[in-house]
Amino acid sequence: MTIIDTHNHLYFPGFKETFHQILNDAKNTGITQQILIGIDELSCQASLNLAAEHSTFKVSLGLHPCDVDQLGVYQAEHHQYLGINSTLRPKIYNRTLYFQWLDELATKHPDTVVAFGETGFDQFHRQSSSLLKLQTLCFKEHLALCLKHQKTLIIHSRGAKEETLEFLKENAEEFKQINFVWHCFTEDLEAAQATIDLGGYIGVGGVSTYPKSETLRDIIRQIPLEKIVTETDAPYLTPHQARKNKAKLNSPAFLGEVIETIAKTKELPRKNVEAQLFKNAQQAFPGLAI
Ligand SMILES: [Zn+2]
Repeated sequence: MTIIDTHNHLYFPGFKETFHQILNDAKNTGITQQILIGIDELSCQASLNLAAEHSTFKVSLGLHPCDVDQLGVYQAEHHQYLGINSTLRPKIYNRTLYFQWLDELATKHPDTVVAFGETGFDQFHRQSSSLLKLQTLCFKEHLALCLKHQKTLIIHSRGAKEETLEFLKENAEEFKQINFVWHCFTEDLEAAQATIDLGGYIGVGGVSTYPKSETLRDIIRQIPLEKIVTETDAPYLTPHQARKNKAKLNSPAFLGEVIETIAKTKELPRKNVEAQLFKNAQQAFPGLAI
């Protein structure tokens, strides 16, 4: 069995005690590759450091839409990331310099860096027009890096369906030239179709397993299996059964429950679905094949 977790944050400080156990569990459940998603300066650094140590990891470099106005800010409770020295503090306060730094990192680590993001719009946690403006600027910076390095773009969209669709439409020519994933997709069929029409992929994770996610399962039923990639977003969004079993944090080892859900929803044998999802991840992230 070969499964790819295309999106997790295993550098999260909460994994400190259990990190090696989590890597073992992942291996034992058939996870061969994982993409660590950097969301700020320290987590991008942590991701690269962990990838240098463990061959299971590839890296996506980004600036999370919730962090676009937090450059250079250190919050001890969030930023004690695994894989970095605990005395390290963010140094880059300026947006232009931050994206120059990501550009340099991608040039320096062409085989490890397979994507940029997560980027996009988040109107769920905080709402303001200045934040939205900054998120748009950063989204564009990520897109430019993907075009330059021919890497995959990872989109985050929460409470911002219209903004994301508008951005896709306005930059359609650019999106057609790259691979991209709408990560943790929870929108409607129109948004899924717009993504697929531009050649993008739909990221499906733990949310698909929740009893209340009937709308999402309807979309999964209607879109081609070839356009779905699996992801955990660990430590967040633990699948339903794992939650019932009292898992404190999500883990790549729980991805089997997501694959099971996709197979059941599409009424296809799990074995075939798993094989296709593996292919999809390699197509969505060509860097994984290296
Ligand atoms: Zn994420």
